Amino acid sequence: MPRVGEAVIETRGLRKRYGDVEAVRGIDLRVERGEVFALLGPNGAGKTTTVEILEGHRTRSGGEARVLGFDPERNAVALRERTGIVLQHTGLEPYLTVAETIDLFRGYYPRPLPLDEALAVTGLEAERDRRVRRLSGGQQRRLDVAVGLAGDPELLFLDEPTTGFDPSARRGAWAMIRGLRALGKTVLLTTHYLDEAQALADRVAIMARGEIVTVDAPARLVAAEDASLIRFRAPEDAALPAALAPRATHADGYVELRSPDPVRDLNALTGWALAGGAALAELTVSRPSLEDVYLRLTGGDGGAEGEA
Ligand code: ATP
Repeated sequence: MPRVGEAVIETRGLRKRYGDVEAVRGIDLRVERGEVFALLGPNGAGKTTTVEILEGHRTRSGGEARVLGFDPERNAVALRERTGIVLQHTGLEPYLTVAETIDLFRGYYPRPLPLDEALAVTGLEAERDRRVRRLSGGQQRRLDVAVGLAGDPELLFLDEPTTGFDPSARRGAWAMIRGLRALGKTVLLTTHYLDEAQALADRVAIMARGEIVTVDAPARLVAAEDASLIRFRAPEDAALPAALAPRATHADGYVELRSPDPVRDLNALTGWALAGGAALAELTVSRPSLEDVYLRLTGGDGGAEGEA
């Protein structure tokens, strides 16, 4: 069994080719035990292909892969006992209750997670006797996760866990994922919600065009961005201070300024405003978000789609 700090997932030079399309182009990935690790990237970046290779559902064209010490291509059965997979669409029996559904899946595993624990970590205690068809979308998604946990896996693959959720259901799902981390599970998460990755992931890998463009903790990725964003309302023809004007962009009645040195720029800006009576209405200074980092690294569209 892997120890703390040991790789639960490790790939070296992992490749996948579909005919002419090189969907995964030699990626090195290391996910440690107990991490929530998010795989991010635009449509067609190669995330699903990578995850399916790691799950043992897809063969690779080259490179090495180890999941819980197994080669997923050769030891898919052994791996299945120790991993949980929560896909985007799980077909569950609508007339079974929540407890019956979880129990059904618990029956497939040698050392299942106790039913009460599966209900508690997914926040479904109150729904235990409710039929699947009577659950809300968010509750059904929690049940998908409970089913993924039925075998008490060390590693859980979570594919887009909150797509279509309302804001409060998303927060509930986030609490659930934090609960999984508290249980010591390793979670490989794919999501298109950058705020979700920023809130949940210990580390993220950003993929584009079949390659990993960066791997780090979200906070470190954001901290490494050297520019803050200064924004205020001003007419398009406002004569900005000479030091700032070349960097300013105008959009929808606002001026935006990328600033590596916000203290200096704000000094110039407020001096200019005081001298000229400008109001600097709705002035904000913000640090870049993970989304800004993502958009810069993926060029706004890093997909391989359309190349086939
Ligand atoms: P999304 O965010 O849309 O799910 P993704 O990052 O998961 O995208 P993949 O589904 O891994 O990307 O696809 C990567 C590339 O491989 C795309 O160009 C896709 O069209 C191609 N591809 C995926 N599956 C197949 C397949 N079975 N046969 C041929 N090409 C495929």
